[in-house]
Amino acid sequence: MYARQTQEAKEKGISNCPLCALGNDNNKTRIWQFKEMDAEHVTAWSKSGATDISNCQILCKTHNQAKGNK
Ligand SMILES: [Zn+2]
Repeated sequence: MYARQTQEAKEKGISNCPLCALGNDNNKTRIWQFKEMDAEHVTAWSKSGATDISNCQILCKTHNQAKGNK
């Protein structure tokens, strides 16, 4: 999971945290270490009818905590 997401991010030249990749600061292209990230289940996607079989992604701890506080 981490390895695949990180490899794809490197190929695109973006952060392996999908939310960091959307930003405009230095973290936009940051490749986080595995220990700096947490997996998260994306239930919202399945609720909205997305057919993507992947229902989880890995975010950096900062973004993972930010989402968890909602
Ligand atoms: Zn992030």
